[in-house]
Amino acid sequence: MSETSPARVLVANRGEIALRIIRAAHSIGWEAVAVFSDVDEDARWVELADDAVHIGASPATKSYLDIDAIVSAAKSSGCAYVHPGYGFLAERPEFSRRVAESGLTFVGPAANVIEEMGDKALARRTAERAGVPTVPGTEVLSDVEAAAAAAEDLGYPVLVKASAGGGGKGIRVVADADELREVIPAAQAEARSAFDDPAIYLEKAVLDARHIEVQILGDAHGNVIHVFERDCSVQRRRQKLLEEAPAPHLAPHLRDAITSAAVRLVAEIGYEGAGTVEFIVDGEEFYFIEMNTRIQVEHPITEEISGIDLVAEQLHIAAGRELSVAQEDVTIQGAAIQFRINAENHQQDFFPSPGTLTAFDAPGGPGVRVDAGVVAGGQVPPYYDSLVAKIIVHGRDREAALARGEQALSELHIDGILTTRDLHLELLRAADLRNGPVTTNWLENTWLPTSFPDSV
Ligand code: ADP
Ligand code: ADP
Ligand code: MG
Repeated sequence: MSETSPARVLVANRGEIALRIIRAAHSIGWEAVAVFSDVDEDARWVELADDAVHIGASPATKSYLDIDAIVSAAKSSGCAYVHPGYGFLAERPEFSRRVAESGLTFVGPAANVIEEMGDKALARRTAERAGVPTVPGTEVLSDVEAAAAAAEDLGYPVLVKASAGGGGKGIRVVADADELREVIPAAQAEARSAFDDPAIYLEKAVLDARHIEVQILGDAHGNVIHVFERDCSVQRRRQKLLEEAPAPHLAPHLRDAITSAAVRLVAEIGYEGAGTVEFIVDGEEFYFIEMNTRIQVEHPITEEISGIDLVAEQLHIAAGRELSVAQEDVTIQGAAIQFRINAENHQQDFFPSPGTLTAFDAPGGPGVRVDAGVVAGGQVPPYYDSLVAKIIVHGRDREAALARGEQALSELHIDGILTTRDLHLELLRAADLRNGPVTTNWLENTWLPTSFPDSV
């Protein structure tokens, strides 16, 4: 390649995040190469990319999880960079390692950093070293009796967590010792089959807490900044459904304490790239739970309140450039909310609802952003995550964002599959949410049983 040819990035993902990465690449004058499985041949992001490579059959293990196929696609299409998006291979250290060993640049941290922070039990230790409070808990446990003794000390209920877990999977709430003895072997087996790693550990269950996370950016020149926080407490099955930035009603001294703890942690490991440090917050107490060493599904709300293009920053960081902003220039402008539109039937325990989108009419207007990987007539395949689109609204304050959310969701029209759209519209009318803040149990334990009694 000549010196003047644009940088090329391989987008090792699908759906809305593939499109998001292509847009970021184009916005800074880079080219983007898509990959696709059989079922995704005619997808929107494949069309918008500068080039596209077929990497295999529809099941993810035969395409988007196939490291060999993806690395070959990057090389054969002349890419110097590989962006993993989220999910799939994004937090697999062996992927980052293989990309680097193939002479390509991984858009994200080096394999050893993913190993250290992507493993939750190891990350807890790093947090402690950095003086960041963690939830009372244990190291990795292999024997049931040791687990039972530790749980006795922590006090029930406890959570059994897979060190390699993610996406809300690999977490179980345990009420007493009998249940714990039963759950440990099953949790290990499940962790081995789902994450290829049987390691599990215990954490005290913090009831009635908020999920608050901090967006981080670090470059190769030693600069680390935070881009404030997001509140992701509206969850079902420990998976996020609606996210807000900034966190509503968060006292300024707590915001300062949480954001600086996140920066301290990341500085401790010399982190390069975008990342998210997750906490649970109970009154004045906050505890580190995990770090995601990748771009997050809910990153757009941070972009809306800060004006920073986080994905473009990721590409610049990978190319060795300094962060485009200094900490003192990062400010919160207004409030933003993201609604995850998933192909799910919330009336039936959020069961997936794949199929053909016979209609997809997106909302618009000031302060409304739609990040979607689909178009009308397209498919929501059964093989992957159920996220179809993200509706992101921004207003000069939270009231304005909530009002825009209602308008945008009422304009959104989807046919052919069931989605979480109606659930979100209903949620926006909930006084608990409007008054805020809510905790991570609120949706499942309080709101769903009263608003949709048939669904639980
Ligand atoms: P976020 O943490 O960005 O809010 P989610 O938890 O909703 O994202 O996960 C986004 C997608 O990534 C989901 O499809 C989820 O199953 C997947 N995912 C998250 N963490 C992991 C992991 N450790 N291993 C495999 N897939 C993961
Ligand atoms: P994942 O990797 O699947 O995102 P996390 O460790 O981030 O797993 O936990 C997912 C969710 O589970 C959190 O957002 C929170 O709602 C809940 N959770 C995690 N740890 C605790 C805890 N110790 N006590 C109470 N709730 C927790
Ligand atoms: Mg998490």
